Amino acid sequence: MKQLYDKAIYDFSTPIKSYWEEVSHVDQARFPKLVGDHSCDVCVIGGGFTGISTAYHIAKKYGGDVRLLEAGHFGFASSGRNAGFCCLPATKLSINQLIKKFGMDETKKFFASQIEGVDLLASLIADNNIECEKIGTGNLDVAHHPSSSEEMKEWGNDLQKYFGINTKWIPKEEFDEIGHQSTEQFGAVFTEAGFAMNPMAFLNGFANATVDAGAQLHSHSRVKKWERNGKHKLITEEGSLTCDKVVVATNGYTDESLHLSFANRMVPVLSNIIVTREMSEDEFKMQNYKTLNPICNSREILYYYRRMPSNRMLFGTRGDTFGDEKSALKMRGIMTNQFRGVFPNWNDIDIEYYWRGTVVMNRDLVPAFGNLENDKSVFFSYGYHANGNNTTVYCGKKLAEMIYESNSGETNISKVYQGLSPKIPFGFLRLWYLRIYLWYSNFTDKSKKEI
Ligand SMILES: Cc1cc2nc3c(=O)[nH]c(=O)nc-3n(C[C@H](O)[C@H](O)[C@H](O)COP(=O)(O)OP(=O)(O)OC[C@H]3O[C@@H](n4cnc5c(N)ncnc54)[C@H](O)[C@@H]3O)c2cc1C
Repeated sequence: MKQLYDKAIYDFSTPIKSYWEEVSHVDQARFPKLVGDHSCDVCVIGGGFTGISTAYHIAKKYGGDVRLLEAGHFGFASSGRNAGFCCLPATKLSINQLIKKFGMDETKKFFASQIEGVDLLASLIADNNIECEKIGTGNLDVAHHPSSSEEMKEWGNDLQKYFGINTKWIPKEEFDEIGHQSTEQFGAVFTEAGFAMNPMAFLNGFANATVDAGAQLHSHSRVKKWERNGKHKLITEEGSLTCDKVVVATNGYTDESLHLSFANRMVPVLSNIIVTREMSEDEFKMQNYKTLNPICNSREILYYYRRMPSNRMLFGTRGDTFGDEKSALKMRGIMTNQFRGVFPNWNDIDIEYYWRGTVVMNRDLVPAFGNLENDKSVFFSYGYHANGNNTTVYCGKKLAEMIYESNSGETNISKVYQGLSPKIPFGFLRLWYLRIYLWYSNFTDKSKKEI
């Protein structure tokens, strides 16, 4: 198995010690291991939100014969271990860059799809009665430095002006009162779209709803080999699946030796989370922390955080390019200091959990969606630039539509998503490119602080 990080990151047999793993129970009995030789029309590889959404919509909307193979238990990877923000957009390109590259119509279509993803996620939760601590009325982007306030204001104005998304600029003094106080709070944009949730609890409900809809989901069934003799044959440790179509939904855990079309196209980036112990109302008052909406700040290497319904603080950021146990320990220490730097009055609040997982960035900084030029029966969707919760469910739905409704392979998804992402030159150097990017971004963030 060809992977970039330390083997600890790809240990599919061991659940990580996340807060979500501890508080959310996924009954794996409904997702038995694949044993023996079987066949179906569509096989989905990967049981995160992309894969589950594809299988869900195939089974529910088209009554299709679909099976899903997941390497670990359900909830193993990023979908079960993320921060639970449902926000936008799934790109690192600015609005101007998107318009320049794809034109205004396709950019509008992209933002409309991002909102559609938010609404779809909310309706999947409601329609399937999934209890996943859904909370909040939108998203907040906080200016972490006085020099970032104008840029953030402009971002909010552009979302409103170009895409009709309701936003509001909240000046620092007002945010001190209604949001929170911190050393890195210089006003915030409120975007009236999105919410927060417990992603593992959602995954549990979503996977169960997918089985109820008629799909067969298999845990602990890693695809080790992919043969193509007319049909596709996917081979796992104890079984095989022969099928007409394959959906690759493995994102940051992709085994690049499985199908060479996907090699050297993604940059998996480690994202890390810490969660505090439960805090009292008086302790929240020490930072005047009131909002339950999820927050990202304007750092190059952004901090994301939220007050959870369980009265803990969740705080996340990117970093570490090794993935071994030693670097995990180091990262936990760095993040504890970062958290306390932003919220100094919580200096003695214990951190109870630390974990991490991969998000995927692409060279062109937009998601990749479609089917392969040289084998139209292989479909894919990946590279959500850390905004996967709304985008995965949307793309999964669109993959199902593409498979069942479009003979030509055409789809009405925005061009921003379409096609494989470009190959990365000297792909084996990806972590070195990432190290340079992180070093540069850290430098930019630090030099801003010294102004
Ligand atoms: C710490 C962290 C915080 C994040 N926070 C947020 C957030 O707040 N909001 C947000 O929108 N996004 C967030 N993200 C990103 C988001 O989690 C991802 O974009 C999204 O979950 C991707 O879903 P996926 O289904 O494509 O991939 P995954 O959820 O990673 O699922 C891929 C699956 O493929 C399986 N797999 C791999 N190889 C094989 C194989 N050979 N055979 C079978 N199965 C295989 C893996 O086991 C895995 O379960 C965060 C990510 C991380 C790591």
